[in-house]
Amino acid sequence: MDMPSYTPAEAPVPEGEIVVERASTPQELGSRLNRTAADVVRFLMQQGEMVTATQSLSDDMIELFSAEIGAEIRLVDPGEEQEVELQKVLGVDELDDEDEADLVPRAPVITVMGHVDHGKTKLLDQIRNANVVAGEAGGITQHIGAYQVVKNGRAITFIDTPGHEAFTAMRARGAEATDIVVLVVAADDGVMPQTLEAIDHARAADVPIVVAVNKIDRDNADPDRVLAQLAERGLVPESWGGDTIVCQISALQNIGIEELLDNLLVVAELEDLEANPTGRAKGVVLEAELDVGRGPVATVLVQRGTLAVGDPLVAGAAWGRVRALINDKGEQVKTAGPSEPVQVLGLSEVAEAGDDFVVAPDDRTARQVAGKREHYHRVANIGGSASAINAGARLEDIFSQIQAGETATLNLVIKADVTGSLEAVTESLKKLERDEVKLSFVLRGVGGITQYDIQLAAASNATLIGFNVRPDRKARELADAEGVEIRTYEVIYHLLEDIENAMVGMLAPEFEEVVTGEAEVREIFRVPKIGAIAGCYVTNGTITRNSKVRFLREGTIIWKGTVNSLRRFKDDVREVATGFECGIGLSDFQDLKAGDIIETFEEREIPRT
Ligand code: GDP
Repeated sequence: MDMPSYTPAEAPVPEGEIVVERASTPQELGSRLNRTAADVVRFLMQQGEMVTATQSLSDDMIELFSAEIGAEIRLVDPGEEQEVELQKVLGVDELDDEDEADLVPRAPVITVMGHVDHGKTKLLDQIRNANVVAGEAGGITQHIGAYQVVKNGRAITFIDTPGHEAFTAMRARGAEATDIVVLVVAADDGVMPQTLEAIDHARAADVPIVVAVNKIDRDNADPDRVLAQLAERGLVPESWGGDTIVCQISALQNIGIEELLDNLLVVAELEDLEANPTGRAKGVVLEAELDVGRGPVATVLVQRGTLAVGDPLVAGAAWGRVRALINDKGEQVKTAGPSEPVQVLGLSEVAEAGDDFVVAPDDRTARQVAGKREHYHRVANIGGSASAINAGARLEDIFSQIQAGETATLNLVIKADVTGSLEAVTESLKKLERDEVKLSFVLRGVGGITQYDIQLAAASNATLIGFNVRPDRKARELADAEGVEIRTYEVIYHLLEDIENAMVGMLAPEFEEVVTGEAEVREIFRVPKIGAIAGCYVTNGTITRNSKVRFLREGTIIWKGTVNSLRRFKDDVREVATGFECGIGLSDFQDLKAGDIIETFEEREIPRT
């Protein structure tokens, strides 16, 4: 490309593939590519794209600039994919890559699951109380979401939220915190729906199950029936020749609990649970809340390393220097090692249960990573509630907002066929602004309406306006799913009229254009006297003679009219369905190319609500 007045900056371009987030601003793009925001803005200006340093760029603009300076980039959606980058920044790989020699045995982490009322809570209480050493912290335990007990000189960690909701919620977020599941089944009630669910969850997570048949003190207890039911589900007790450990207990009367703990240690031994207790800590958030007096509090389970007071910790989008650590006995401690649950004070905000946490190399990195995640959450929160950029009004609602005496902000995503019309549309729209109606341009771009435009519109509660451009099928589907309003125009005056009418509560009925057929142009034939015939392949719906039609080249409308002849082989036909080839006559439009899309449509009035 010939760019007379754009001189690329001298700085070397970062080597290798650089991950760039969609909708980056010139500032952000510049900093990824070792350029200034001004470099980006100046270059785009040469291309006829007017952008400010803080405005989101389209994919095309980002790619154009990157290509210009010879940077190899990969565009990613804001969010998950950059997580890979953030993990690198945090140096998580080096933590995960443990040296065998550094590993030492750690306590097993236990989750108690089972049907409601079968005694999960009672069991957890009993184990905890039986293990509080008299006099220790006044014998009062703290509910912090998990606790540790010591049996035969070995520690066992229990997650203090019974039930599989917490367990699955954790797993859904990718957290694998549990080593062994204790499945509680009441001897008087037997295997019930949630018992089965618990078995499924434990199996899905590939976690060993130890069965606790509870309430054996009850007169109507029938442990053998329970064993038979479990055997049917593939949990065959050892006493029956299987390999499932089954303990008969009474959580109420404290019977069989010590044996249960012994057995958990046996299973733990078989599982060979180990961790490296040195170096930066990493683990998972079990619970988090905002405490009035203490600020954000998170209970974390350390999975490797040692967490210490003063450490710069990142948990999801929260970060902070650890101000204090409080253990399950309510005591302040200086450190917590593998499998130890501990409450953390000092985070910037409330983390989410299931979030990973890791101690960052330094404060700055911790803050940076948390800030990035916060940003991604915001951007990626498509269709999310009040979270996004700024809550805008829909075109249809704008009048009621004005009437309510509020300043209405109309967020707009504008796509147009060429830069010239984009500028013209924007400039004319700006003239409509008044005190009570502000316009905010979330994105202005050139080209067809894509899925990404819809996502952005959904995230920012914006109305999408297309000028001489159309949404592709994916974009249309997503718009329907997300409830994004797309209004397409070919005459600026119509667009301005609509917006003005919306401001006075008189928005005309919207004509929804229902796409009835889509065909891809494969070849153009010139026929003497008749003109051009487009040899097409119908990809969607049905193409019907006399229906309204428009031709699209890369999402941009290049012509509009009617289908005036339609043929299959030599025969004139009324319609051609998906999967068939046909010839479409184009009396007064001759400029089609292979690869163009022919779209037929009908206009239907959408009643206003
Ligand atoms: P969860 O819903 O599984 O957490 O069940 P809970 O621990 O809340 O127990 C439900 C009811 O069963 C409570 O009234 C307990 O006191 C009672 N319970 C729990 N374990 C036993 C037990 O071993 N024997 C008897 N008789 N009752 C028990």
